[in-house]
Amino acid sequence: MYCYQAAKRRVGTCADCGHQGMTPGRNDAGQPTCLSCSHIPLDLTCHQCGIEAWLAKKNTCWACELKTLITSLLAGPDSVVRPELIPLATALAGMQRPNSGVTWIRTNPKVATLLSSLGNGDLPLNHAAFDALPKSQTVEYVRELLIEHAVLPFRDRYVAGYERWLATKLADLQDIEQRQVIEQFGRWHHLRRLRAQAAKAPVTQNAFLHAKQSTTVATSFLHWLQERGRHIWACSQHDIDSWLSAGPTTRQQIDSFLCWAVRQRLIKGIKIPTRNYRGSPHIEEGRRLDLLRMLLLHETMPADHRIAGCLILLFGQPIQRIARMRMDHVKVTAESVELRLSREWIPVPEPFATLLRAYLGNRPHMNTAANPDSPWLFPGGMPRQPITPQMIATRLSREGLPPLAARSGTWLQLVREAPPSVLAQALGIHPITAMRHAKLAGADFLSYPRPGDSIVDG
Ligand SMILES: [Zn+2]
Ligand SMILES: [Zn+2]
Repeated sequence: MYCYQAAKRRVGTCADCGHQGMTPGRNDAGQPTCLSCSHIPLDLTCHQCGIEAWLAKKNTCWACELKTLITSLLAGPDSVVRPELIPLATALAGMQRPNSGVTWIRTNPKVATLLSSLGNGDLPLNHAAFDALPKSQTVEYVRELLIEHAVLPFRDRYVAGYERWLATKLADLQDIEQRQVIEQFGRWHHLRRLRAQAAKAPVTQNAFLHAKQSTTVATSFLHWLQERGRHIWACSQHDIDSWLSAGPTTRQQIDSFLCWAVRQRLIKGIKIPTRNYRGSPHIEEGRRLDLLRMLLLHETMPADHRIAGCLILLFGQPIQRIARMRMDHVKVTAESVELRLSREWIPVPEPFATLLRAYLGNRPHMNTAANPDSPWLFPGGMPRQPITPQMIATRLSREGLPPLAARSGTWLQLVREAPPSVLAQALGIHPITAMRHAKLAGADFLSYPRPGDSIVDG
């Protein structure tokens, strides 16, 4: 069937004369042909750039349309884009799917407002000015693009997020002594750790949430002590035990505060209770194989989510680690596909290898301004960032694959097949965790060869 609208968008090589460009026609064999071979009296040449292309409107291609739109928004009162904004303008105009870019700007009024306030100078080019804007995905996206192109200095969004959150939290604390303790804990424990992490790779949302929750729990602990008429330095084992036994399980998150307080000698002579470990729920082996089959055969589910699911079900990988896998963790040759999940390269079995091979040439989010050459195996929608663990978890859960239970189920199976030390080397599963699962699985891990007689060559 001949569709006029689709025909006007078809780019390719003319089957009759070899012309490269728009191929709206069809020859007798049904192959695409160019305008002149098919005698279609259409003008599909952009009058601005001279390229034959899918046109946004008469005589203008989508790329030129996007460029004009961005220039008009980013231009100052003198209709000129300031030099410092040119990298942003170029990045935005260079999207591989300019029609999506035009839609993004036209359908989202926040984008136009943000870009024009940058253009006319109402919004200064610094992080503090961006912080003062109402929080939105658009603001963060544009900020990350500006960082990407070195217009704004590097800043990890979660480090900055925690810093800002801590400042408001401290401002709400009336008691001076409590405020000092929480400020020290927040700055010297959490912020320092987050900064160290950011120096290596973007901080994960999980680490950010953990830092916030741990600080909140520490604050309620200090309130609670105060209500019992106690200063922190007089806090006893009895206080800690009653705090833990009387409240919700989130109170267990007090442990990092207590460790820190003991190191700082704020609290003395206490034993920090270890968290109760309850055997985590796990899926049964039959279910694991069904889910694996589902992922391998699923045709409408995006490949990145299918691959993430396979990494859980085959190799017991945690989604936090999956989300941050890099392209250099995968090695593809004509004969084999290999992954490096810990210290060793391990072969990827078929048909997962085929799925992975096809995916590598076609990663998502590569066509926007965000990730022109992303090092991440799973590039995210945000510039410079990989996909978030939450996105993977949500999508997999929707397909009936609970990530945590699936990982535990996989471990239970893996420890039946190989000793904990081998799993640690090949899959990065901590030996203690592997042992715990071995016990749960009833595997006789003592009968495994010792690490020295490793059955897998390193
Ligand atoms: Zn032709
Ligand atoms: Zn053009």
